[in-house]
Amino acid sequence: MDYPKSKELYERASKVIPGGVNSPVRAFNSVGGTPLFITRAQGSYLWDEEGNRYIDLISSWGPMLLGHAEPDVIKAVQQTAENSTSFGAPTRLEVEMAELITSSVPGVDKIRMVNSGTEATMSAIRVARGYTGKNKIIKFKGNYHGHGDSFLIEAGSGALTMGEPSSPGVTEGTAKDTLNAEYNNLDSVKKLVEANKDDMAAIILEPIAGNMGCIPPNEGFLEGLRALCDEHNIVLIFDEVMTGFRVDFQGAQKVYGVTADMVTYGKIIGAGLPVGAYGGKEEIMDYVAPTGPVYQAGTLSGNPLAMAAGFTLLKKLKDHPEVYDELEKKSQVLATGITKILEEYDIPHAMNRVGSMIGVFYCEGPVETFDDANRTDKELFGKIFHGMLKRGVHLPPSPFEAFFLANSLTTDDLSFILTAFEETISEIKSA
Ligand code: PMP
Repeated sequence: MDYPKSKELYERASKVIPGGVNSPVRAFNSVGGTPLFITRAQGSYLWDEEGNRYIDLISSWGPMLLGHAEPDVIKAVQQTAENSTSFGAPTRLEVEMAELITSSVPGVDKIRMVNSGTEATMSAIRVARGYTGKNKIIKFKGNYHGHGDSFLIEAGSGALTMGEPSSPGVTEGTAKDTLNAEYNNLDSVKKLVEANKDDMAAIILEPIAGNMGCIPPNEGFLEGLRALCDEHNIVLIFDEVMTGFRVDFQGAQKVYGVTADMVTYGKIIGAGLPVGAYGGKEEIMDYVAPTGPVYQAGTLSGNPLAMAAGFTLLKKLKDHPEVYDELEKKSQVLATGITKILEEYDIPHAMNRVGSMIGVFYCEGPVETFDDANRTDKELFGKIFHGMLKRGVHLPPSPFEAFFLANSLTTDDLSFILTAFEETISEIKSA
C-alpha cells in the first residue's frame, strides 16, 4: 500500500523534527516504512491522512481504555475549556481527582499531579532518596520508566526498540547510582541489595512489565521485593503508568495483593491529555515541597483540561467495574485466537497476557525475563506488523510493546483482527 500524504508529511517532518516524530517508537524504525499520520479517531478506529481506517491496538499507548473520543470525556474537556485552559492556582477538580485516587487505590495516602509518566518516576525516586537519605536505586533490565537520566540504563520500550537501551548524555555520576537487576529474578536483586545495603534508597519496577512486550511477575517475585524493602528500609515503587486503572481499577497492586510504598501513574489518569502522578504513604509524601524539603513543581501540573478528562474517565471506570470483566473476555478471545493461528501454522510463540495487556513473542516460551523477550523474532514481527497494517489493523510498531485493548472493541472487530492475522500469517508462510 502507498501512503502519499503520510509520506509527504513525514518528509517535511524529518526536516524540522528529529526523526520526523515527537517520540521515537512512532517512527517505525524497527518495522520499516513510513509512519501513518493520523487525522482522527473514534472508539477503536483510527483514520490516517489518506482516509484509511484502522482498528487501533495501541490505544495511544494505554490511555484509551474506553476507546477514542469517549463522549463524556470530550464534553468535560470542552466545558472546562470555556473557563480558560490554565490558572496556575488550585482548583476544585484537583482536589476531587486526588480524593478519587487516594480513596480507591491501596497505599496511596497523598498524590501529586505532574504532566507525564517521566516526571512521575523522576520525582518519585527523588522523594525516595530524600526520605531515606540514601542514593542508589535498583531498576530492572527492560523495564521503562520514561526518559529521566537515572532510568536510561538498560531501559525498555523505545530505547530497547532502537537498540540503545543506555543513552549517551547520561553522566557516569548518575549512572553509577542506578543498578540493574533481572526481572523475575529475586536473587539478582538480593545480591545488589547485599552489596549496597547502606545506600539503597528505592527499588522501582513495572509490577507487570509492559515495555518489553508483556511479562507478568512470577509467583512470589513482588512479595519477595516487598519483604526485602521492609527488611532494609528501602522504598518500593511500583511504576503503574501502564498498568494503573488498566489491569484493574486498583492496578497491579490489587491483582497481586502487594502494596508498594510509592506508586506512579500516567496514561489512563489523563484520558489522553498529558498527565502523570506520583503518590504514596503520607510520611513519604510529606517530604515533598511545600510541606517538606524535596523540591518538585510544575507550571501546568493539575491542568484543568487534563484533570477534567482524567477525572471523567476514572469516575466512569469506578462506576462501571463491569468494564474490566468485558475487557478480560475480549482480551481472552484475541489472545486465544492468535495462539490458535500461530499453533496451526507451526510458528514458535509465547503468549503473555494480563487483562487487556497482551504480549506476543515469536520464540519458544516461557518469556519471563528481558533476555527471554529479546529472543523474539524481530524480522517476523516486522512482516506481521505490515501485513496487519495493510489489512486495516494498527499494531504497536515494535516487537517490544504490548497490545493495549480498549473496551470499544466489538465482537466484529475482534473477528476482523483475527481474520487479518490469519491472512497475514498465511501470506508470510507461503512467501
Ligand atoms: N513508566 C512506564 C511504565 C511507561 O510505560 C511509560 C511510558 N510508556 C513511562 C513511565 C513514561 O511515561 P511518559 O511517556 O508519559 O513520560
